[in-house]
Amino acid sequence: MVLTSTFTPRNFREQSEKACHDATLRAVLDHATRYFMGKRGVALEAFADRDTHFARARAARLTALSRLPDLLEQLEQRATAAGTKVHWAHDAAQAREIVAGIARGCGAKVVVKGKSMVTEEIALNPALEADGIEVWETDLGEFIVQLAEEPPSHIIAPCIHKSRADVAALFREKLGLAGLSGQEDLEDSASIPELTLLARRALREKFLAADLGVTGVNIAVAETGSVILVENEGNIRMSTTCPPVHVAIMSLEKVAASLEDAADILRVLPRSATGQKMSSYVSVLTGPRRSGELDGARETHLVILDNGRSEILADAVLREALLCFRCGACLNSCPVYQTIGGHAYGSVYSGPIGTLLSSLLLPAKDTRDLPFGCTLCGACKKTCPLGIDHPKLMLRLRERVCAGSPGLASAAHTFLALHPLAYRLVMGAARAVDPHLNLLPRLPGLPSGLASFVDSRQPPELKKPFTAQLRNARKKRGGA
Ligand code: SF4
Repeated sequence: MVLTSTFTPRNFREQSEKACHDATLRAVLDHATRYFMGKRGVALEAFADRDTHFARARAARLTALSRLPDLLEQLEQRATAAGTKVHWAHDAAQAREIVAGIARGCGAKVVVKGKSMVTEEIALNPALEADGIEVWETDLGEFIVQLAEEPPSHIIAPCIHKSRADVAALFREKLGLAGLSGQEDLEDSASIPELTLLARRALREKFLAADLGVTGVNIAVAETGSVILVENEGNIRMSTTCPPVHVAIMSLEKVAASLEDAADILRVLPRSATGQKMSSYVSVLTGPRRSGELDGARETHLVILDNGRSEILADAVLREALLCFRCGACLNSCPVYQTIGGHAYGSVYSGPIGTLLSSLLLPAKDTRDLPFGCTLCGACKKTCPLGIDHPKLMLRLRERVCAGSPGLASAAHTFLALHPLAYRLVMGAARAVDPHLNLLPRLPGLPSGLASFVDSRQPPELKKPFTAQLRNARKKRGGA
């Protein structure tokens, strides 16, 4: 994943604190996450045999992970036989170079993109733009954050942090748009259908001018060599059929063994994501346009990206994070995400699953605070249709952080905990100068975490140190 100096999980603490004080952001997030959870609740209520379908979707994802090398090989064979050129990318830089090479090869000047988290992960747009190519996000939410020069703040709703008035102001400023009448400036009170129509007009000409379409992949079917894409706006279908060349980029875990497994996943994904029985558009693409067919790209490419996932698979506990099919429900149910939104995480993946993926895909030194931003309330686990146990994985990540660098304070604490006499001496001396132990942690030079620890807690006042109380209690019971 590619980070900039300002957009990084290294600043997660400061970014989340700032977000906590942004009342407008909280109001927008509250409204949007409630809306998604409400729609999802209604859809799942009416979903007969829901648990059976959830179990089938999980089984399909487990099969994919357990047979990954074989399935990816089969996918390559079948996709190649169907006429798609398959590329393997070890990391983000290689993936960018592959797509840039394809763009150069077809002389692309304009690229249209469908919403794709994996292209955000590899920072594809800046790489293509550096080659002088115009890149247009065509999903409405992605289009909005592209205009705002911001990263997405939600896996399925990239501009969830923006209000309708924010979007109207953005269109007015960046596109110089008048209202639908064409007479006066676009009003902040413009309706959502009006804003959508204006975006559609702006994007329509880009579809027609595009030389290359780039999308992600929801599911790649090993059995047939197909890629499946789900969406609600029709922009992905346009991006894959208008330009003469289509590149689909998938992270390697997105494979499914068969069309039947893909169907099991598709029965659950839209219901969990947007509360729909099925997304408005489901495209199953198998190779380029054949002779006699009226639409479709004449040249198709599939880029299979690893970017650290093989290492995640090697961890028996953490590999569970790769089951995720990005429905976004755990973000909407998470009290932390509901409070701070996606940008505070400093990574394109946010919320519970974003914390896991970012911690696993990015350098450990950049993400050490992320797993500690989780309350371990378990709302994500309860919501996840694939049964991913986020809290268990968070604890595993915390263990890794602590094992990696215990730090001076932690090492000192361990020593004292293992040496009762030394503990009593140190604590006795400390209490002699600071009876409530709320001043010493603020001494300059001590780790900042100690001060925030006492700032955020009000320990009860103890008449005697705990160890002395324990000794007295034991004496009373006649113990040692
Ligand atoms: S972890 Fe589960 S709930 Fe969260 S996005 Fe992935 S599949 Fe959806």
